[in-house]
Amino acid sequence: MKKRVWLIGLDGASFDILEPIFAAGKMPVLKKVMDTGASGILRSTIVPFTPQAWGSVITGNNAGRHGIFGFVRQMPGQAPEFLSSRTLQGDKLWTRLGRGGLKSLVVNVPLTYPPDPLNGSMVTGMMTPSTESEFTYPPQLKDRILKERPDYRLDVTSSIDKSRSLALLDELEAAMEHRVALTLDLLKEQDPDFLFKVFVLPDRIQHAYSQLIHPKSTAYDSAKAAKARGRIWDSYAKLDRALGRLLAAAPEGTDMIFLSDHGFSVERGGFFTNDFLAGIGARRFKKAGSASAGAAGLMRGVIRRFNLAGIKKFVPNKMIRQTIDMTKEAIDWEQTQAYASPLAQQGISINLKGREPEGIVEPQDYEKVRDGILSEIAKVSQENGAGSVAAFRREEVFDGPYIKGIPDIVLDFAASSLEAKDAVLGGKPISWSDGGSRGIHHREGLFLGVGPGVRPGVYEDLSLEDIAPNTLGLFGLDGSDSMDGVRRDDVFDF
Ligand SMILES: [Zn+2]
Repeated sequence: MKKRVWLIGLDGASFDILEPIFAAGKMPVLKKVMDTGASGILRSTIVPFTPQAWGSVITGNNAGRHGIFGFVRQMPGQAPEFLSSRTLQGDKLWTRLGRGGLKSLVVNVPLTYPPDPLNGSMVTGMMTPSTESEFTYPPQLKDRILKERPDYRLDVTSSIDKSRSLALLDELEAAMEHRVALTLDLLKEQDPDFLFKVFVLPDRIQHAYSQLIHPKSTAYDSAKAAKARGRIWDSYAKLDRALGRLLAAAPEGTDMIFLSDHGFSVERGGFFTNDFLAGIGARRFKKAGSASAGAAGLMRGVIRRFNLAGIKKFVPNKMIRQTIDMTKEAIDWEQTQAYASPLAQQGISINLKGREPEGIVEPQDYEKVRDGILSEIAKVSQENGAGSVAAFRREEVFDGPYIKGIPDIVLDFAASSLEAKDAVLGGKPISWSDGGSRGIHHREGLFLGVGPGVRPGVYEDLSLEDIAPNTLGLFGLDGSDSMDGVRRDDVFDF
């Protein structure tokens, strides 16, 4: 019998949010997979941003090797580069499968634009500029999609404005319907060995409405939340029916793996990296941080548009460069030993001589400065609850040629649900919020699996990098020796 593996991505899906929906009987399809198949927390990347996380799924590697960290790549001495499929380094899962003679269908996967030529077909996903761009392989597939489905949408953005009403749900459901119908058509025509399809609906809903549906939100028990929850859960019910249609279309013997790139939490406050650095004397602003605050605000707008996604267009590289220039102008470089990257990378860079344009830290002092900052972070973390700010030397987390594009210190807020902020507060480095209502990414994602190659059970210590080598393993191919992910004989029956 022909072997088939289907990877179904549920962007941002989180057990925390799904469990009450399962309990209410609204997602019987996925709940049955959980009850009868394999399940577990799927550990996301540091930082749990969508491009880096899917990059690790697609390649089986860490960001130091695949080159995607944050939302912009900044290698020393080079211009900042916005992310696309071309920035993602290393062999992709479908490339490896194609070399093994296997046919792939890749639909709506983030970071696939511009599409790669592959043995099979591709319809790109999040971070595709528009339906006017070449978003399919083969290229002629695009004409057919737009002819049959003139309303086909590549992505739907959520935004603060949209979250004020529930109208976003109608948009998300309509877009999902088109994409599922297209996927089912292509499956029927092509009968690929490998399907990789991503649903963005959970992520978009959770960015907009976490305060109403995340049990850890302080607003969860409010009358407003109780009133809206039914309608929001209906969207998850529609997602579940779509998954049911896919399951029904899967030929017997198909291994189905459901996964999310990260989970979701609710924001508990901000870690103001620039304030922290100024407070320990590692950074100076020229004029009370005013210009920097302006640049930070501009960048925040840029990132918000990315993050909440749909991105009708790429943010122009020019705008990114302007923001970086403004931030750099605001900093008194002669007095600055370290700075927080303005690229939403959740990290701290040392102002190193010979690497940074106006570096002041001598290479022999690099470790001393970095250790000093780490010990100050440890103090702040201790004062605010153990582990509230975890900080690592970049080489403790990553390795590979692209580590040079990653800040010298990386921050992780998994234990505290803080968010790194680039705004300058002029006060304490951490500001706790009482609402805890905004949805933010978290490192605990979701893994579910069912099929003859999947051993039922509850598993621990699965990470995003493991998906690619185990998918290859199910096809009897080995690539794990050259990937960071590991084969899991306990979870899969190869
Ligand atoms: Zn995501």
